[in-house]
Amino acid sequence: MIPFLDLHQVNLRFEGEFKANYEEFLKSGRYILGEHLQLFEKEFADYCGTLECIGVGNGLDALRLILEAYKEMGRLGAGDEVLVSSNTFIATILAIKQAGLKPLLVETDPNTYNFKIDDLAQVATQKTKAIMPVHLYGQLSPMEDINSFADKNGLLVIEDAAQAHGAKDVHGKFAGNLGDAAAFSFYPSKNLGALGDGGAVTTNDTKLAEIVRKLRNYGASSKYINELPGFNSRLDELQAVFLRTKLPYLDADNKRRMQIAARYLSEINNEKISLPMYSGATDHVFHLFVIRVKDRLEFMEYLKDHGVGSLIHYPIPPHKQPALKELNQLSFPLCEQIHEEVVSIPMSPVMMDNEVSQVISILNDY
Ligand SMILES: *Cc1c(COP(=O)(O)O)cnc(C)c1O
Repeated sequence: MIPFLDLHQVNLRFEGEFKANYEEFLKSGRYILGEHLQLFEKEFADYCGTLECIGVGNGLDALRLILEAYKEMGRLGAGDEVLVSSNTFIATILAIKQAGLKPLLVETDPNTYNFKIDDLAQVATQKTKAIMPVHLYGQLSPMEDINSFADKNGLLVIEDAAQAHGAKDVHGKFAGNLGDAAAFSFYPSKNLGALGDGGAVTTNDTKLAEIVRKLRNYGASSKYINELPGFNSRLDELQAVFLRTKLPYLDADNKRRMQIAARYLSEINNEKISLPMYSGATDHVFHLFVIRVKDRLEFMEYLKDHGVGSLIHYPIPPHKQPALKELNQLSFPLCEQIHEEVVSIPMSPVMMDNEVSQVISILNDY
């Protein structure tokens, strides 16, 4: 059996370090907003190349707190619109909605699975104030085009980098440092995953960072002085301990993901299977390896019978989810077609070469 993703194996590599660091954490007596969180924030900001990093409770809150902070700064107001891809995880859209803003969905480009860049200008209105590119499946959005569109139209650029820790553009600039602010998730299955929930905001805007830092902790500037009506969304000290342990290995893990992807791309050869577009550059860290097939149910049954795990990212587009009724009447035919065909095949830094070979031959025999 080749699992879709074996998180125990992923984390077993760090067992010794985790245990030693946990002992020290336990003795410290400081379990929230302690030294490890501060150090992780510094280390992750350095990694991304940003001035600031603020650890928060999860990826959804990271997105939301950026929007809430811009509201505090007067850069966004109730009812303002945010451009976002129709093909994303529901969290991106929920964050916009929870912050009292309006998501403006954009049709999907079937080659990149990102939004159709040419559609942005048609969809935007006078009330559009921000754009939220999602580096879906680990592949950077076309940030040069997005930033120049945003510059022309005075939009804030907020990256949803929850799937793209460590992806970098042609200039060597990292995800998290390609817009005005960025949100990360450290959900266990992400490229940099905690052993529980976690998230972070990165930015070069020190004012924004100061407000997010307050908002995550009841709006407090110092203990029991509450300047803003804030939230409780702090990155756990214990998760910071685990993340600090794993961060030094992120680049090696991403490199392994890219090696596996390169093999899938060159060795999977089956006309029933469409492979993702990939330039071979560092702008894709393969959080997921997503293929497309016409007869998905049958195909996934076949994989299961042959001992290969697979998942769908995602089976229902956000605008067709019962939770987003107000968007249900929208129609994005390309996005909807993609949702019927995508399948994610095994991808993780702990996959062995022989497992990769097995997946390839099982796919080629389909
Ligand atoms: C995982 C993810 C999120 C949300 O992260 P959580 O930590 O689960 O809240 C947001 N956006 C995208 C694209 C994600 O993949």
